[in-house]
Amino acid sequence: MVSTIKNILSQKYFSKEDIVALLKTEGDSLQLLLDKALDIKRCYVGNYVFYRGLIEYSNVCGKNCFYCGLRAGNEKVARYTVSDEEVMEAVRFAYGKDFASIVIQSGENTNAINVHHITDLIKRIRQESNHTLEITLSLGEYEEEAYQEWFDAGAKRYLLRIESSNDNLYRKIHPDDSSHRFGDRFSALKTLQKIGYQTGTGVMIGLPFQTIEDLADDLIFMRDFNIDMCGMGPYIEHPDTPLWQFRDLLLSQRERFVLSLKMIAILRILMKDINIAATTAMQTLNPNGREKAIRAGANVVMPNLTPQKYRENYLIYENKPGTDKDAGETLFEFEKNIKDAGEIPGYGLSGTSKHFQSRN
Ligand code: SF4
Repeated sequence: MVSTIKNILSQKYFSKEDIVALLKTEGDSLQLLLDKALDIKRCYVGNYVFYRGLIEYSNVCGKNCFYCGLRAGNEKVARYTVSDEEVMEAVRFAYGKDFASIVIQSGENTNAINVHHITDLIKRIRQESNHTLEITLSLGEYEEEAYQEWFDAGAKRYLLRIESSNDNLYRKIHPDDSSHRFGDRFSALKTLQKIGYQTGTGVMIGLPFQTIEDLADDLIFMRDFNIDMCGMGPYIEHPDTPLWQFRDLLLSQRERFVLSLKMIAILRILMKDINIAATTAMQTLNPNGREKAIRAGANVVMPNLTPQKYRENYLIYENKPGTDKDAGETLFEFEKNIKDAGEIPGYGLSGTSKHFQSRN
C-alpha cells in the first residue's frame, strides 16, 4: 500500500481513482500523504498562516438547510444582528492587532439584509482601516447586482460553500424547493468568479449518505472550478435539525476528523497555491484540530471576533468551541496553535490567494 501511495503522490495528474485511494490511506500511507501536503504548502504558499477576523454578523436566516442549527425552522434560536457600532469595534480590534483581513458571515436572508446597508458597512470598514483591511463576505446567494455593488464598494473576496458537489446528495440535505437549488448555488459561484472576486467554496465531510466517491468528486469539482480559497470541515450533527435522525449512519467523529484532514491534504496537493482554512469544526472534533489541519496543508485561520454576547446563538452545529472566550483569549490560542504546528502567525499579511493572483 505504501508503495502504491508513493507512486500516486509522485504523479502530476490525479484521476478520481487516485483520489479515492488517497482518501482511503491509513497508517504510514496517511503520514506520507500529510507530509507531502505540508511540503507543498511550504513550497507554494510559505510558512505563514493568515488571519481572518470572523464577524458572525447575523443569525437570521430564511433558509432551512437540513444540517444547520440556524435554519429558519429552528425556533429555539434567539435571533440577532450585530449593530454597526459593534461591527466597527470588532474591526478596530482586528486592525489594532494587525490582522489584514476580516470575514463578515451571516445566515442568508435576502429580506432582512439590506444590500445597500452592507455596502455602506463595507465602505466604512475600508475607510476606517485606511483601505488596508481586506473584506471577505460570506452572506449566501444574492443577485448579481448585489454581488457587484459589494465588490465595487471594496469587498474583493467571497466564500460560498457548495456543501456537496453531488446534486443528489445536495437534495438530500436541503428542502426540495426553489430556495434550495444546487443549480442556483452553482450559478451564484460562477457569478462571483465572473465579477472578479477571489472565490471560495467548501464542502461538509462525513455527511449521512455521502460516499468516498462523493468526496473525491468534491475535490475534483473544486479543482475544475478553479477556486481561490476553501473552507471545509467535518459535518457535525445538531439535535435541532432534520439530519439528526440519521446520526446512526454517521462515521465516528474521529473518522470524520481524519477524513477531513485527508481532504485538506489532497486539496493542497491538487491546488498547490490556493488558500485553505483550518476551520473551527476541526477544532470541535479534536483538541489539536487546528494545528493538525495546518500541518495537513491549511494556511488560514479565522479567530472569532463576534461580540461575545451573540456567540452562543451562532451554533450551526453542536459543541462549537470558543463561545465562552473573549477575542484576546481566542487570539492567544490561535497563535499557539500556529506555532505548535511549526508555522508563523501571518500578522499584517493580507494573504491574497496566490492562485487568484496567478490566474489573473
Ligand atoms: S447553512 Fe446557511 S443558509 Fe443554510 S440554514 Fe444555515 S445559515 Fe441558513
